[in-house]
Amino acid sequence: MTVYLVGAGPGDPGLLTVRAAELIARADVILHDRLIPAEALAGARADAEVVYVGKQGGGPQMPQAEIDRLLLEHGRAGKTVVRLKGGDPFVFGRGGEEALACVEAGIPFEVVPGVTAGVAAPAYAGIPVTHRGLAPAVAFVTGHERDEAGEASTGGDASGRDRKAGATSDSALDWPALAAFPGTLVFYMGVRALPRIASQLIAGGRPADEPVAVVERGTMPGQRTLLATLADVAERAAAEGIRAPAITLVGPVAGLRERLGWLERRPLHGRTVAVTRARPRASALAARLRELGAVVVEAPVIRTQPLDADLPELAGYDLVCVTSPNGAQALFDRLDAAGLDARALAGATVAAIGPGTARALADHGIRADVVPSRAVAEGLVEALAGIEVDRALVVRGREGRDVLADALRGRGAEVDLLLLYETVAEPLDDTTARAAAGADYVTFTSASTVRFFLAAAGTLDGPRIASIGPATSAALREAGVAPDLEADPHTPDGLVAALVADAR
Ligand code: SAH
Repeated sequence: MTVYLVGAGPGDPGLLTVRAAELIARADVILHDRLIPAEALAGARADAEVVYVGKQGGGPQMPQAEIDRLLLEHGRAGKTVVRLKGGDPFVFGRGGEEALACVEAGIPFEVVPGVTAGVAAPAYAGIPVTHRGLAPAVAFVTGHERDEAGEASTGGDASGRDRKAGATSDSALDWPALAAFPGTLVFYMGVRALPRIASQLIAGGRPADEPVAVVERGTMPGQRTLLATLADVAERAAAEGIRAPAITLVGPVAGLRERLGWLERRPLHGRTVAVTRARPRASALAARLRELGAVVVEAPVIRTQPLDADLPELAGYDLVCVTSPNGAQALFDRLDAAGLDARALAGATVAAIGPGTARALADHGIRADVVPSRAVAEGLVEALAGIEVDRALVVRGREGRDVLADALRGRGAEVDLLLLYETVAEPLDDTTARAAAGADYVTFTSASTVRFFLAAAGTLDGPRIASIGPATSAALREAGVAPDLEADPHTPDGLVAALVADAR
């Protein structure tokens, strides 16, 4: 039994530590705040008890005493408890108080530091919090804002949320000392505190033209940064509607953003891209797009489900063609169920339709003999031209095209089809459908994504339409939608490259 006080980082799921992910995966109970990465809980056990202890439905924050009580109750029950907090648990996270409660109750605890917003949000905005010659020190500051208690606590654990009404930051913060601080000031405070931050610092002697950066939703999709000065920051933040959560950074280092801002320079920055392919395959594409700066709407409209098919005697084929990564996976699932493995394919030439399928085969120990440079059935037909074939097996989904089997038969080969899965519609909820239809790009990676997306979302006239290849483009045209771009090569990587080229 241990209570783990774990930092989940500032929002970008990639900034969750390895240790945090490991403990989330192990936890019996997870008590979490609001401001944790959306994906942070994805790795939790299906049977873990996940309890939200943040602000209740726009109302007040769950009292700290109640959180402590839950922590101790689960700890005493011998559970592995993860107390998951935004950023770092000991930076304005009340982690210290929770650790003390554990000590008093005699419950063992450990602390897993997290990437704190006060460092991460500036870093993503291109601002180093210290810099030789500009800032030899950095101070992290928070304070209770009487008139924005609600807003401050949307920040997860902004300090002082249980203090009596009437307490103000002025009672807690020594403004003259902060103004005199020889370095960068990082405020974990709501944007409504900006007028006071600015006026107090100027009154304390900071130059009115000192650079200030306000970073909204740091490290999360849609991060926004305002670069201003102490003199105009409050007015400009209000004019631009900057909202919580936000970090305000005061100091000459903020000016480095003009040269070091990198986030906005990523090729797909500010673009929203909808991904319609089936969930397990969508995540790799989505991750790649996010890395390039896109905001991804995951709108899977299809899913595959296995078909009942008898596995033929594989030794009888001199060619086995696999036409999708799903097919490769399904084939090995079927072999596995029959107590077989890759050796069942030992005698055959193995052909994969493209690099993704070849990778899926390689995952199971099969190096494809033939992988065409054009990842379409026609490309595979060409690539197989010089290979002698008597009996071929084509492994594919029920909806696959007949191009390959027909061409092989045309060459006199005996061809069997092994249909191992079918593609069915995955229901799309209204919110996701609207988000996808409002995206800058919608990507289609197969004819079935076209069919099911249009069935679910109706027409498509806002976004630019990105197709993975000719078969998908044909399906689009047939549905009355002209693709704006087509990937070449016809692979997910090719699709990403086409998006980048188009967004330029
Ligand atoms: N323990 C957290 C801070 C909790 S206090 C940490 O180490 O980061 C909550 C305040 O942190 C918010 O009001 C806001 O000022 C700041 N904050 C948290 N996440 C943020 C983010 N992604 N972008 C900008 N500010 C953030």
